[in-house]
Amino acid sequence: MEIPETLGKILMRSNRSRKISSLPQLWLNPEIRSSDDGPAINSITINNVREAEARLARFAPLLAGLFPELAESHGIIESALLELPSVAGIENPGGRYGKFWIKADHALPIAGSIKARGGIHEVLEFAESLARRHGLPGPRGDYLELASPAARSIFSQHEISVGSTGNLGLSIGIMAAALGFRATVHMSAEAKQWKKDRLRRHGVTVLEYSGDYSEAVEAGRVRASADPYTYFVDDEQSRLLFSGYGVAAFRLRAQLEELAIAVDAEHPLFVYLPCGVGGAPAGVTFGLKHIFGDAVHCFFVEPTASPCFLAQMQNPDWAGITVYDVGLDNATHADGLAVPAASQLAIEEMRPLLAGIATTSDDTLFADLYWLHVQENIRIEPSAAAAFSGPRMLLGGEIGQAYLRRHGLHPSMHRANHILWTTGGLFVPDDEYADFLERGRTVAQATEAGFSSASSIAL
Ligand SMILES: *Cc1c(COP(=O)(O)O)cnc(C)c1O
Repeated sequence: MEIPETLGKILMRSNRSRKISSLPQLWLNPEIRSSDDGPAINSITINNVREAEARLARFAPLLAGLFPELAESHGIIESALLELPSVAGIENPGGRYGKFWIKADHALPIAGSIKARGGIHEVLEFAESLARRHGLPGPRGDYLELASPAARSIFSQHEISVGSTGNLGLSIGIMAAALGFRATVHMSAEAKQWKKDRLRRHGVTVLEYSGDYSEAVEAGRVRASADPYTYFVDDEQSRLLFSGYGVAAFRLRAQLEELAIAVDAEHPLFVYLPCGVGGAPAGVTFGLKHIFGDAVHCFFVEPTASPCFLAQMQNPDWAGITVYDVGLDNATHADGLAVPAASQLAIEEMRPLLAGIATTSDDTLFADLYWLHVQENIRIEPSAAAAFSGPRMLLGGEIGQAYLRRHGLHPSMHRANHILWTTGGLFVPDDEYADFLERGRTVAQATEAGFSSASSIAL
């Protein structure tokens, strides 16, 4: 049956006025494919991720020399996988849901967040290709030559710039400046003062904008396009960032093997990732799905005020949809996630791979941040706390149970492993952290039964 033109227009318009609830929710991705359906057509390939891994390895000796904090790991920037005995708001008697872990990117050196892998990778790729054009490194292929005065004088003629809510700027700015590049970070309104101060201390130029993240990125993009000596790291479409983030999947596989943790049909792995523009969690998911296929289930978590990835996944016919278009205001204290529009590259890669998206309130973020401090003495920033809402939403709600049923997971849940990806926090100043704790404590106390119910308000 043909749809009359006017009716078609009305349908389209009603589609376009679609709202997203400002309450926490779990959404399941109807487009997810099984690996039995054959490989998805991706514009990124696993070889891109392998290349990123190899590049980070080539540069490791140089990084160990530039950053004393990398001496022990010989220049490899990686975080620990920590067992988490309990999660606020989840009753797990007898381990019926399996085990919980933290992937501790809150402690990643240099950048203090998940941005370290992607951001540093892209700076190194640019430095490497520039150096090669100038015949460096020489015949011995010694990457330490890229820290020589000759290399630095080449790099100093170039600028690397990026738009950021804070953490990507830290990663790109600090790495670029350490190699001798000029570096400029275009910061959106929610960027924290201490992140700007830290960059300036590293000799990075910080330009401040009163607008949101998309505007800061656009301003940076326009300025860079006018200058052939400026290289712009484009978080909304960068394949080099994406593949750098993906390297985490190979590193995690090695950590799981070391702990003798199986991942297969009988031992499902659930991974919960805070999501901003989507590049970092999508890169990790891309790598993990390549390695573990249907045995890994990846969920993103976004603030209720900034679910840009959810908005774009739900509205495939509306490229560039923003959180404002779905009736939300992008106002969240999770500065790393305060992004109005998703990366189209990340969206395209995630359509067949992502299990679902949870949203969570700022109160819940602070309650979880406080809980983690009290229980485990781990310091994270509000964005990273989003990971905690993932398992609560999956295990404690109707929609999550439907997911487990649909994928036949109930019989193996006691053998499952859940990884909460704590994406940032290392450099949060003490006074700022004290404020976060205070707010978390207030939220926790506002509910009668303390932590667990404070945190299960997301349900
Ligand atoms: C950037 C960031 C994320 C999300 O990464 P995107 O690529 O923006 O989705 C999550 N947590 C923290 C702390 C971040 O800085």
